[in-house]
Amino acid sequence: MTNKLILGIDIGGTKSAVVIGTPSGAVLARASAKTDAENWRSGVQSLFGLARDVCRDYGCQMSEITAVGVSCGGPLDFETGIIYAPPNLPGWEAVPLKALLEAEFGLKVAVENDANATAIAEHRWGAGAGCRDMAFLTMGTGIGAGLILNNQLYRGRNGLAGEIGHMTLVPNGPLCLCGRRGCLEALASGTAIGRMGRERFGESTVTAHDVCDRARLGDPVAREIIAEAAYFMGLGLAGLLQTLNLERIVLGTLAVHAADLLLEPIRRSAQENCWPLVWAGVTIVPAALGDSAQDKAALAVALPLIKT
Ligand SMILES: [Zn+2]
Repeated sequence: MTNKLILGIDIGGTKSAVVIGTPSGAVLARASAKTDAENWRSGVQSLFGLARDVCRDYGCQMSEITAVGVSCGGPLDFETGIIYAPPNLPGWEAVPLKALLEAEFGLKVAVENDANATAIAEHRWGAGAGCRDMAFLTMGTGIGAGLILNNQLYRGRNGLAGEIGHMTLVPNGPLCLCGRRGCLEALASGTAIGRMGRERFGESTVTAHDVCDRARLGDPVAREIIAEAAYFMGLGLAGLLQTLNLERIVLGTLAVHAADLLLEPIRRSAQENCWPLVWAGVTIVPAALGDSAQDKAALAVALPLIKT
C-alpha cells in the first residue's frame, strides 16, 4: 500500500495547493498558486496545471496516481462532488469539480469540505489518532466541526452535520455572518474576538491576533474578551459532548496559535457545562498537523478510494 501515490488538492480562498503523497500521509511533492475565487473556470484550469506541474516535478505520470482527494470550503455535495459557492469562493457556483477532475485525469476523485477533511487527517495522523469518537473544530474566521463517530466520518442527512458554529447560544445575541443572532460563531470565533476587540477598544483595525497579543501583556479588556470567547466555546463543546459522548475534541486555528490563552478556560467551561460522567476522560487538545494540515487533509479525503 505504501507504494501507492495520491494526488491531494487543497482549494483555499486565496491560495490552492496540489500535492503528491502516500496513504500514510507523507507529502512528497507540492505546487501552489493563487486561487481565482471569482472565476471557477480559470480556477479549475489552474488546478489542472498545478497537478501536471507537481507530477513533472516528482517525476511520475498522472496514470501512476491511484486516487485524488480534494479539500474545499463548503457547502458542497460529497456524493456528486459539486461545489456551491462557498463564502471564500464566491464565483464557484454549482461547479461539478469531481466530474471535471475525473474527466481530465481519468482517476477516481473524492471531494470533501475542509472541516471534514481535516477531521479525517487529524484522526488518522494527528491529535485524534487512536480515538474512536472525536470531533475536530476550526476556530478561525468561522467555527465548523468534522465528526468522527465509531472511526468513521459522520456527514448527516445532507452533509450538514457538524455545523455547530450556528447553534444559538444567546437569543438575540450578536449578529452572525449567517444572518441569525447569538450563534456560537458570533461569540467565540476569531472573527468574533476581533469584533469585540474593535468595539471595546474603540479602534477600527484591531484583529483577533491583536486581542491575543494584548491579553498576553495583561491588558484587562483583552483578557475579558478572551475569557468570554473561551466560555462560549466551552459551552458549545459541552453541548457536543452531552450529545455525542465523545472521547476527544481537537481544536484548530486560533486554539493552536493562542493555545496558551484559550485552552484552559475552554476546558474549564466545557467541564462546568457537562455532566461529570460525560466529561470523565475527555481530552480537549490543539490540532497536531500544523502547517501541513491542509495538504494532509486533501490526501486523507482520497483514502476511502484506495483498496488496501
Ligand atoms: Zn450563524
